[in-house]
Formats: sequence, C-alpha cells, structure tokens
Amino acid sequence: MESIPMIIDGRPVMSGSTLGVINPVDGKVFAEVQRATPVHVDQAVAAARAAFPGWRETPLAERGRLLHALADAMHAEMPALMEMLTRESGKPLGGLDGVGSGMEVGGAVAWMHFTADLDLPVELIQDDAEARVEVHRKPLGVVASITPWNWPLLIAIWHVVPALRAGNTVLIKPSEFTPLATLRFVALANEILPPGVLNIVTGNGDVGAAMAVHPGIDKIVFTGSTETGRRIMRAAAGNLKRLTLELGGNDAGIVLPDVDVAAVAPKLLAATLHNNGQTCACLKRLYVHDSIYEALCTELARLAQALIVGDGLLPETQLGPLQNREQLAIVEELAADARRQGARILCGGQRLARPGFFFLPTIIADATSGMRVVDEEQFGPLVPVILYHDIESAIAAANASENGLGGSVWGQDAALAGTLAMRLECGTAWVNTHGAIQPDAPFGGVKQSGIGVEFGRHGLAEYTSLQTVKAMK
Ligand code: NDP
Repeated sequence: MESIPMIIDGRPVMSGSTLGVINPVDGKVFAEVQRATPVHVDQAVAAARAAFPGWRETPLAERGRLLHALADAMHAEMPALMEMLTRESGKPLGGLDGVGSGMEVGGAVAWMHFTADLDLPVELIQDDAEARVEVHRKPLGVVASITPWNWPLLIAIWHVVPALRAGNTVLIKPSEFTPLATLRFVALANEILPPGVLNIVTGNGDVGAAMAVHPGIDKIVFTGSTETGRRIMRAAAGNLKRLTLELGGNDAGIVLPDVDVAAVAPKLLAATLHNNGQTCACLKRLYVHDSIYEALCTELARLAQALIVGDGLLPETQLGPLQNREQLAIVEELAADARRQGARILCGGQRLARPGFFFLPTIIADATSGMRVVDEEQFGPLVPVILYHDIESAIAAANASENGLGGSVWGQDAALAGTLAMRLECGTAWVNTHGAIQPDAPFGGVKQSGIGVEFGRHGLAEYTSLQTVKAMK
C-alpha cells in the first residue's frame, strides 16, 4: 500500500510511523499516511516562519495569480479528487440534492478563485491640514489550520486560501479520518507556491494539540466540535494566538402553518440529510406547527424511505455511509435514546445490514427537548420533528440551545418569516432555505458555536492585524 508523505518546506517527509485511512463503505484500510511527531510540527512551523517574510512581501497581484493557478490545477484534477474524497469520506460523488464530492471539489475551486481576488484596501480615517491617519491590514505570521472530516477539502480551502491571500504562511493538519484530498491539494500547491508557504502534517488529535500550544504559531483556525475548540482555546493562551473557531451547530428550522407541505418537504429533507447530516450548518431540529404536523411527518417519512443509500461511487447513490465507526455509534445511541423516551421512529432507526458504517435515514416524530437528538449536536441522518402550537414557544425552544450557528424559518409570507428568522440567536438566519452559504457573505457562529467568521472581506480580515499610521503634517 502506498504511504503518502507529509510536505514540509516543499519536500516530502516520511515519519517512520503510519496511520491507516479507512474507507467507510467497507471499514477497510485503503491508504496510509504519516503519523507526525512534535518534531515534525516544529519543522513545519520553522519552514513557515522562514517563508513568511518573502511571502508577505510578494505583491498582492502575484499572490492572487498564484492562487488562481492553484485553483486551475485543482480543477484539472477534479475527477480524481472527487473519487479520493468519496473513498475517504463516504460522501457520494453526486449526492442528495447535488451535495457530494462533485460539489465539494467544484465549490473548493470556485471559493479559491473568489478569495484570490479579495482585498482589504487601506482605510483613510483623517486627511486634513493637521494629519493623515490610515488604517492598514497586516498579515499575522504563521497560521495553523486544523480541519474536520465532514468537508475536508472545502474546509481546508476556506482556512488556507484567505490566510495565504492576506500574506500569512500556513501549516495544516487534516483530520486523521480524511487526510487524502488535503494532502493532494497541498502537493499541488507546492508545485506552484514557494517552499514553506504551505506545509502539511498528518496524524491524530495529539498533532493538533501540539500545534495549539506551539509558540511559533500566531493564529489557529479550527473547524470541529465545541469541546475540541475549547481545548484549543485554552492551549492557545500561552502566546495569545488569534483564533477563528467554527464549532458545533444544532440548527433549528421553524415551519410556519402556511407552507405548502408537498413543496416544502423535499427542501427540508435535503437541508437535514445532505452529507448524512454530517454538516455543521445542517438543519438539525425541525419545529413544525400542529396544523400541518402529521401531514409533514408523513411526507418526510415517505421521501426518506425512498432515498438511495449505498456506495458513494455509484452514480445513483444519494446518501453514503457515515464517515467513521465512532460517529455511527453516536447516531445509533441518539436514535435509541429517542425511542426509549417515547418518540415515534417513522422510518429508519437502524443500521443497514451490510458492511461499512451505514445508518438508514430516520424521521423521528414526537421528538421533544430532553431527548439527546434534540438537545445535542447530532451529526447523522436523524430528523427530529418537534410539534409547536404558538410561534413564541417555537422561537424560545429554538433559542434554548448553547449553539448558535444557523437557523431558518419556512413560510409563504416571506416578510413574516424574515422578521421571525432575525429573532433566532445564530450567526446566519435563512428564510425558506438552510445552510446556503456563499463566498462573499460572512459565516460564523454565536454562543458556543464559535468565534469569528469566515468568507468574504470579513473573513479575510481575520487573517490580519490592524496597524494605524498617523503622520502629522
Ligand atoms: P474533533 O473536533 O475532535 O476533530 C476536529 C479536528 O480537531 C480533527 O482534525 C482532530 O484531529 C483535531 N483534534 C482533536 N483533538 C484535538 C486537540 N486536543 N487539539 C487540537 N486538535 C484536535 O471532532 P471529532 O472527529 O472527534 O467528532 C466529534 C463530534 O464533533 C462529532 O460527532 C460532531 O458532532 C462534531 N463535529 C463537528 C464538526 C463541525 O463542522 N462543526 C466537524 C466534525 C465533528 P483527529 O481527527 O486527527 O483526531
């Protein structure tokens, strides 16, 4: 089996110890990557630090040109990258509602092109007979990116590209579960960028922990669980690292009584189940008015039962396996807890009888707060449907969560839905859609869902510090 090297200072690096990468379709190891030690983290930080002055001084237009070239190189490899992503993550090539590896690679390329042209011009505060006062944006230095397994390539691009665009150098650690597409992305980058500008180390959470305490790293950008985010924040205090933390979500959607049940059900299903529910901003709790409750539950169950679950490499597959064995166990426990507490499992509720980490799409009626599937961030193909009578109680229940990533309101009266959506305590409020992100609009969480934002000019600013320059006349 091929053993894929890390890349430090533009060179392939083997560590002498490896980790297997498992295909969630059959639970078998199909590739091997390096298990980094703290020494490799030191080497990668040293390489990034040495490359920083040269990259910072590289003109913005040239940095942009190189990032566009990298996006083109990824585009040229799109079919191979899609297959690699499907093998390591389990997500289908196409997927439910077109959400699969094709969208992940295509989205990564589009995001790179957009971000390659972003700019933060000098802000002029004062220019009069007394003085000229300008505010400049400066890169921070060495940025460390720690990524999760649910959207490994797209999230890597979200972290790395704005950091590079702003003039920082980068060290990335992908999740041990899904390192392959990120390794390929970094290999392509190292054919285009100067050595040391983008480095990659692989391994488990210990490698991330070594990065979080490292005094040579100026900023951490992390996407993953709230608990690990807290750990990183504590560890990062030693040298006051800047942080962008995109953490867990438990997004609520409120369905108003005026919806057309048949028209809205497929949209709600796609928003809850795409990528098997393994997306931070998936719709994870559905609050439905009593006047349409049974009709919507029945329609959701009918649609969910018809979904094609299987090997993501097959073109007809809509949902693949869950990404890892641990996640499958969590999902199984959450479904069992709901059943024990009196919820009605309208469909699914169990593993698929085949090898691999498959769990059937599951509609859970009569879900209530107090059930783990409602109260916790659930990362699986589970759709808890909660009944409400009056809108005030629905909004209160939606907001009664420590998370605050996204939220949505669904209804035909768009003005009313918009007003209600803005009362949700979350970083992004959607109306008649959910999880619809875009490269020019900031995205981030409030409450325990994170710190800071990604995307667009607001996201780019997170990779800079401000310098005020005041010149007397
Ligand atoms: P984690 O948050 O633990 O993992 C995310 C990344 O952090 C991985 O690269 C991981 O490495 C790394 N990491 C783990 N421990 C540390 C540490 N102490 N310091 C620095 N980095 C670390 O997520 P899990 O994979 O454990 O998933 C658990 C739950 O988290 C899921 O059930 C889901 O609810 C939630 N989750 C949320 C995501 C989101 O997008 N909001 C994404 C993924 C998970 P490694 O994988 O190699 O251990």
